Amino acid sequence: CRNLVLILGDQLDANASAFDGFEIRHDRVWMAEIREESTHVWSSKQRIALFLSAMRHFAWQLQEQGLPLSYQKLGEPGSADSLAESLGRAIARHRPERLLMTAPGDWRVLQAIRAEARRQGLPLEVRDDRHFYNSVREFRRYAEAHPRLRLEYFYREMRRRHHVLMVDGMPAGGVWNFDAQNRAAFGRAGPPEISSPPQFEADAITREVIELVLDHFPDHPGTLDSFGWPVTRRQALRALDCFIENRLPDFGRYQDAMWPREPWLFHSQLSAALNLKLLDPREVIGAAEQAWKDGKAPLPAAEGFIRQILGWREYVRGIYWTRMPGYIDRNALEARQPLPDWYWNGNTEMACLRDAIGQTLRLGYAHHIQRLMVTGLYALLLGVDPKAVHGWYLSVYVDAVEWVELPNTLGMSQYADGGLMASKPYAASGAYIDRMSPYCRNCRYSPREAEGDRACPFTVLYWDFLMRHEALLRENPRMRMQLRHLDGLPALRKQRIAIKAHAIRQNGGQP
Ligand code: FAD
Ligand code: SF4
Repeated sequence: CRNLVLILGDQLDANASAFDGFEIRHDRVWMAEIREESTHVWSSKQRIALFLSAMRHFAWQLQEQGLPLSYQKLGEPGSADSLAESLGRAIARHRPERLLMTAPGDWRVLQAIRAEARRQGLPLEVRDDRHFYNSVREFRRYAEAHPRLRLEYFYREMRRRHHVLMVDGMPAGGVWNFDAQNRAAFGRAGPPEISSPPQFEADAITREVIELVLDHFPDHPGTLDSFGWPVTRRQALRALDCFIENRLPDFGRYQDAMWPREPWLFHSQLSAALNLKLLDPREVIGAAEQAWKDGKAPLPAAEGFIRQILGWREYVRGIYWTRMPGYIDRNALEARQPLPDWYWNGNTEMACLRDAIGQTLRLGYAHHIQRLMVTGLYALLLGVDPKAVHGWYLSVYVDAVEWVELPNTLGMSQYADGGLMASKPYAASGAYIDRMSPYCRNCRYSPREAEGDRACPFTVLYWDFLMRHEALLRENPRMRMQLRHLDGLPALRKQRIAIKAHAIRQNGGQP
């Protein structure tokens, strides 16, 4: 063929740049299920099943449209373990004049494809991914012009440039953010009634994939009993409609709140559909803005939601592609502890962690505050090697793709990039979790105690974290208040806390 058009598992968009100029008579699409993509990190069953099912549905759609397609199924004759090997076989079979693709999401994948193209002596055209508002080039230019890179200013620029939530050149409502109104907890009464996101019943394709995953990856983390993610564009659009209609109005207010056995709350659960490119961010943002204009959602809710996609999502992608390959090796706090084993099964008496990890393994999902202020916070305070933390996050969540997962994990949650993603470490004691959730009420530990039998491990490790990194943190004006509290602790108490923290580390992260 003339062009072999490579479509990866997270590029399931019929309007992707890779299809521009596609000619049925001369060109061919190549897709492959690669074992290595599920094993280079210990990918959860939910994540593997979602990728494979969505890929197969997309392939079916391409075939319906009459596009010549070479699709390699996992475990079938001719399948290869690595991307390079599989691509090499397709090249031998179809003898293309060149390879063509939309820029991939992972640095590792781009390098592998480039190397294989070189090895085969074939030209490779990598086109911009126009799914995103910014090309990597545009973000690089922005970053060069703004050496003190901060999400807040980037986000404002995006609002202006793309005319989102703007009225006569000013931010709608007169302010850029409504964070002060967006930090409510549920209080004793618990959450108001929440309309759950739609669960999509497995069709024949998904059922086959589930069997395949159970067969090929039986010991991978998590379960598939509750698999209900959208796997087609049509399902993703339905999930978007349901969110805008039912949950967006309360999204802002309860953005940071947590509640046991309520995994979805008012979040959208759209990250996986967005990252697989089943949804375009413009249509998601457009729908949220329209809901505000129609009076169906308050401005703080629409703004809080839009900021995540127009701001954070674009920002982390820019950080990833302008900082790789060195970014993945950053370890500013020199954290060296192994990841506790129980992160893979949720087997702990800490109620908040048990719930967050349990739901993660069951559903492949936890919302932002659970990821940042429960599992991420504990790893930060314990001093876990950021690469091990990264491996865990990349494995367990259905929306995990390295360009978005890595800056969030290594940068925002572990402060391993020394302050590029977050202006200060997200370090907090059990008191934060107590304020934002009722977990502590039913926990064997007490969030206010740092000594004794009931000492909350978060609180012990929090003080210990401040002590261990005191010199570095003193240079950060945003840490002043936390360090002032540390200064108030008597020396003997500090000593006892440090001993207790050491014992927790020695005991695999458990008290
Ligand atoms: P909502 O709360 O409804 O937010 C709406 C959308 O905004 C999301 O669907 C997502 O596309 C986007 N968004 C929100 N926060 C972020 C953010 N910080 N960075 C980028 N986009 C954001 N998100 C991923 O998509 N993949 C990951 O692998 C991932 N790993 C994370 C790891 C850690 C340690 C942390 C702290 C955050 C991570 N996030 C990741 C960001 C965020 O937690 C998820 O996007 C969000 O929880 C997905 O659930 P939702 O769709 O219900 O999001
Ligand atoms: Fe989590 Fe500590 Fe609260 Fe227990 S007491 S739920 S460990 S924060």
